[in-house]
Amino acid sequence: MKIQEADAKSLLVAQGLPVPGWEVAHNVEEARLAAERFFAAGAQQVVIKAQVLVGGRGKAGGVKLASSPDAAERVASTILGMDIKGITVRKILVAAAADIVKELYMSAVLDRADGRILLMGSAEGGVEIEQVAAANPDAIVRVHADPLLGLLDFQARQVVFAMGLGAHLKAGVAIAKGLVATMRAYDADLVEINPLAIVRELDAAGAPVKRLVCLDAKVTLDDSALPRHPELEALRDPDEEDPADRKAREAGLTFIKLDGTIGCMVNGAGLAMTTMDLVKRAGGEPANFLDIGGGARADRVAAAMRIILADPKVDAILVNIFGGITRGDEVARGLIEARAVQERDVPMIVRIVGTNAEEAAALLEEAHFTTAASLDEAAEKAVKASGGAAA
Ligand code: GDP
Ligand code: MN
Repeated sequence: MKIQEADAKSLLVAQGLPVPGWEVAHNVEEARLAAERFFAAGAQQVVIKAQVLVGGRGKAGGVKLASSPDAAERVASTILGMDIKGITVRKILVAAAADIVKELYMSAVLDRADGRILLMGSAEGGVEIEQVAAANPDAIVRVHADPLLGLLDFQARQVVFAMGLGAHLKAGVAIAKGLVATMRAYDADLVEINPLAIVRELDAAGAPVKRLVCLDAKVTLDDSALPRHPELEALRDPDEEDPADRKAREAGLTFIKLDGTIGCMVNGAGLAMTTMDLVKRAGGEPANFLDIGGGARADRVAAAMRIILADPKVDAILVNIFGGITRGDEVARGLIEARAVQERDVPMIVRIVGTNAEEAAALLEEAHFTTAASLDEAAEKAVKASGGAAA
């Protein structure tokens, strides 16, 4: 689950990381009031940032500075309602603009191959890290956190020195350890600070000081771990969740949309992967990955069917069920129910084996479904029904 920058920053603050204060505004009036408060507190400029779940907002015109409340109001009105990569901006972050001396990069990601948290740092921040990785891989320093002890002090220092942050050693170490702590506290997949910035500020006596702060924050939470953090569910942004993803989540289905034309309804993640492979081998392209889970009842099957058919590209459906806990006849009933009310008729090829397969076969035959005995046959029939093998 992706969360908005403002929410990501709240999680960082809760873990003790240095993040300059901000407010979230939903309309021009709120933005003006927020800006007035920052100017009253001594800000020379405010920064206004689109809150959308895509990267590269700066380049897209979604991050702008303003030097007065009037200017803030104007900037807010251009950013609110703006389309950034297909998403309409509905809220903005307002903050005192930082006086940036240097932009750097630091992130923690779950390294699945290694089974550990990977901390990455680079002196080249503010740009896309993928570009740095491609053009100058040596500019990125990497260390793996200890699974039990977290990021050790010497590892944090190693990263901070490699980033050229010797002058900010203490703050840099705290941030590095804080990113790993944030990963662990919320079961995050990614905690990325880009830019991590050296900024010029004035201390209490009015003397200039340089400080290391998190200016941007991107956090992705592990969906499978969300039940461990029910309070984070409130950070889900319904404005930006794909309708099909939301329906699938509400129905308890694991659904991932793909680009092909053959809808797949399968029970079990491994069988779903196999089914997709066989569709491809038969010359077709799967339209989705869909695992209806174990013990799927008729209503869940019907929900899955609606989600598959909502994709206009789908022109054939392959149902592949291995009945274990899941009863074949329940699935067959679900399919019959779903087809009776579905808005669009597409060919459906059904293979059900295992528990109550015979009852299922009888029900499907009576309802004139196309069935297949083997998975290979099912995949071939589905590809043929969808207009034959792709070139
Ligand atoms: P992103 O483009 O979606 O990653 O959004 P960021 O929050 O990273 O902002 C993009 C760029 O805007 C940063 O790399 C900075 O150069 C600039 N920027 C962001 N916040 C500030 C700020 O407070 N002051 C100044 N001067 N520039 C900022
Ligand atoms: Mn950024």
